[in-house]
Amino acid sequence: MNLPRVPNYDDTNRGVWSPFVYGPERRQGAVVVCPDCGGGMSVGGGNVFGSSHAIAGDGTVTPSVVCPYAGCSWHVFVRLEGWR
Ligand SMILES: [Zn+2]
Repeated sequence: MNLPRVPNYDDTNRGVWSPFVYGPERRQGAVVVCPDCGGGMSVGGGNVFGSSHAIAGDGTVTPSVVCPYAGCSWHVFVRLEGWR
């Protein structure tokens, strides 16, 4: 699933992602908003928030993304449009 980029995290805007930069190392990651439940989750960013995902140069996220919120079954392969 390709997810479009938005400037900032907003939990009313589902099925999108926004960038974050973390720490003095300026690790780049993304906040993904689940299209099904609206829950926010981090991917990448040097795994600082518990994400075990890697983000390739074209925005492809590996492994697949599983929504962590109870009762939600969203589980897809994600590409972050506009990652670079
Ligand atoms: Zn969800």
